[in-house]
Amino acid sequence: MKNLIVAKFGGTSVADFEAMSRCADIILEDQNIRVVCVSAQSGVTNKLVRLTHMDVTAQERESILAEIRATEYAIVDKLGKPEWVTLALDNLLAELKEVAYSDNLVGSMRLKDQIQSFGEQMSSLLFAEVLRQRGAHAVNFDIRQVLKTDSNFGKAEPDVEQTRVQAEKLIAPELEGTVFVTQGFIGSDSQGNTTTLGRGGSDYSAALVAEALEAETLQIWTDVTGIYTTDPRLTAQARPIPELSFDEAAEMATFGAKILHPATLIPAVRKGTGVFVGSSREPKAGGTWIRNKAENKPPYRAIALRRDQILLTVKSPKMLFATGFLAKVFGILAQHKISVDLITTSEISVAITIDNPNNTTTRGIKQEVLDELAEFCEVSVEDNLSLVAVIGNHLQANSGVGGKLIAALENYNLRMICQGASPHNFCFLTQSDDAAKVVEHLHEELFDAI
Ligand code: ADP
Ligand code: ASP
Ligand code: MG
Repeated sequence: MKNLIVAKFGGTSVADFEAMSRCADIILEDQNIRVVCVSAQSGVTNKLVRLTHMDVTAQERESILAEIRATEYAIVDKLGKPEWVTLALDNLLAELKEVAYSDNLVGSMRLKDQIQSFGEQMSSLLFAEVLRQRGAHAVNFDIRQVLKTDSNFGKAEPDVEQTRVQAEKLIAPELEGTVFVTQGFIGSDSQGNTTTLGRGGSDYSAALVAEALEAETLQIWTDVTGIYTTDPRLTAQARPIPELSFDEAAEMATFGAKILHPATLIPAVRKGTGVFVGSSREPKAGGTWIRNKAENKPPYRAIALRRDQILLTVKSPKMLFATGFLAKVFGILAQHKISVDLITTSEISVAITIDNPNNTTTRGIKQEVLDELAEFCEVSVEDNLSLVAVIGNHLQANSGVGGKLIAALENYNLRMICQGASPHNFCFLTQSDDAAKVVEHLHEELFDAI
């Protein structure tokens, strides 16, 4: 559809009835918003993930289920408990309970994804009703019919072509008169099993749906007025950036700016879709536009921080003059679907960073991987590290960049430094305890004087 906007509302934006009503205002004001992707209410996915952990007690499980029920019921109550919506909600809660009590849950990635999908299923059900009560012709649409993925539960990869075919068949013909309210984060594999795209994946879902429908704009509505020079929770000096290029924003997302899931911009870049990020609390306060090209290209744009990093060092005296050592290491990591971020090498060792996000069902690096590596090299693992990335333009070409950044951080222990692979970033690892101070200090050096 020409001028089509796909809008995504994150967890805090749909946290309760009042928040949902603010999102409804945004949708009702713009006829072009025809597809809406919602996250679970904030906190719900964390609770669902907790249900999948081995050490959850029966008592804790009961109280989590009760808390989730209370969150959902607070909204359905405000909606006046319409009969079929309440019934549909009860059915979802009953299904959730059944999976939560399944004996196989702890060992099954498939069931873990199924559990995690209930947050989005419930919020889209309720949000569609909020819109209907405000006079919109809104339907709650099950995105699993459209967003097709592989079976890599916990971090499924989309099948872009299948998704396009399904969106064209099931959504596009009805777009004129309908607002589709659908779920972020979830999809389904070729066997129809529910999958998830990884934590924070609703942004990515919305971008994939926008791509499939050739939308003109993707809107990401969240709890901050756009993308800032750094996470505003880290320093009060952070300020919004009105415009970013795809390259800059993609680097920010990749290196931990939680505001966007790392893969969000991949579909947008493929189709050249304009992306707007703004606050559903203050929709008129402006936000950030991300486009193919930004008008100005400052050397320093932003600082991103990603916590929970693992530093894996593999060492082999045999690596000296040996070919194929790196291929072997990466082969093992690839087999286990572990993606590598930063790499530095010395004569006989290689240091690699691996993301180890909290609150997910697919944690970092398993003993099995370490054992496989240990068969041909010495392996050491360090954690409690954070990755700081300075994002900007021409960072590899401007003289003095490395000197300036390192001088600014002379009082901190930088564990690993990487520069040069991209003109847009300069990254290093630091101890997690120092991370917030490092970002605050760097922000002061790079931005506060401007
Ligand atoms: P949602 O639930 O809407 O997806 P998230 O919590 O995932 O929201 O992302 C929004 C949060 O991202 C903000 O509250 C902010 O703390 C954090 N954040 C991290 N980096 C940035 C940044 N550079 N600019 C703005 N927000 C950021
Ligand atoms: N609800 C999911 C999460 O909390 C997806 C999202 O919010 O983007 O990770
Ligand atoms: Mg998010």
